[in-house]
Amino acid sequence: MIVVMKQGASQSQIEGVVNRIEELGKKVHLSRGEARTIIGVIGADEHMVNEANFEVMDGVERTMRVMQPYKLASRDFSHEDTVIDVNGVKIGGKKVAVIAGPCSVESREMIIETAHMVKEGGADILRGGAFKPRSSPYSFQGLGEEGLKYLAEAREATGLPIITEVMSVDEIDLVGEYTDIFQVGARNNQNYSLLKALGKTTKPVFLKRGTSGTIQELLMGAEYIMSNGNMQVIVCERGIRTYETATRNTFDVNALPLLKELTHLPVCADPAHGTGMANLVPAITKAAVAAGADLLMLEVHPDPKRAWSDGAQSLNPDSFAKLVNELGPLAQAVGRSL
Ligand code: PEP
Ligand code: MN
Repeated sequence: MIVVMKQGASQSQIEGVVNRIEELGKKVHLSRGEARTIIGVIGADEHMVNEANFEVMDGVERTMRVMQPYKLASRDFSHEDTVIDVNGVKIGGKKVAVIAGPCSVESREMIIETAHMVKEGGADILRGGAFKPRSSPYSFQGLGEEGLKYLAEAREATGLPIITEVMSVDEIDLVGEYTDIFQVGARNNQNYSLLKALGKTTKPVFLKRGTSGTIQELLMGAEYIMSNGNMQVIVCERGIRTYETATRNTFDVNALPLLKELTHLPVCADPAHGTGMANLVPAITKAAVAAGADLLMLEVHPDPKRAWSDGAQSLNPDSFAKLVNELGPLAQAVGRSL
């Protein structure tokens, strides 16, 4: 249930509602928007709404039951878009933000060189996998902590915040020592122990859609993180498995405007994993901006042919810079900037 306070409701009126909710043994989530305060009651049921009579309390405008199974992630919970600030980079605002970098961190020199190149090309955030969820146990599994150290050095050298994947609960502390954003990969979209544990951290979580996951499952994943206390979640469309085998995945462009309707969380598009083919990435990136993506994730490698993972879908630094340039007017045409 959500309690919407009247515009200009006083602090003591807000506290009155919060105390009442806590007396009923429920958890509160307070969201102070510019116009009004919304109080989320976590785990409320209909019986309680009647019993508590929140609507007659001072300062309350109305109460609402959220019909979707995801509550905190739902658009009903916040009509305003959530904007996440990562070391000064805003995700979810008017400007479409860009994450770029290699699939995997391959060496110190490689990630620092790539970081400079993507920064030059217009990236806001640097990506790079140190713990890699590979389909084969015989493929390169990532450099682990060494890779995290190199990423941190690349941040130091360029000022770009970093994002990297965390695959299990026991890696959270280690990855959290280095990263600015935790990435949860498609294969872990329904790893609820991981999501709950990330909900107890204070860094933003970038949650990818499952390889065969529905939009509802994606938002329920976000709800797991949020209901454990961390409201800074970004959801990402990265392509889904369909009967089509001509491309690695099928990028679901429908998901972008639909997610913008269903949730207040920032929505990212990952055309590299969505297609698996670098030649398709520019067109799908443009489609994603036109369809309302708040954030883009692009794989960029200094020499894609030699990449240790996902070379076929990685742009080289020149094609990345060219693409970012082309996105500017497109973003403007849909009321955004880049
Ligand atoms: C990645 O971002 O390199 C990655 C492994 O992505 P996904 O989880 O979408 O497959
Ligand atoms: Mn990859």
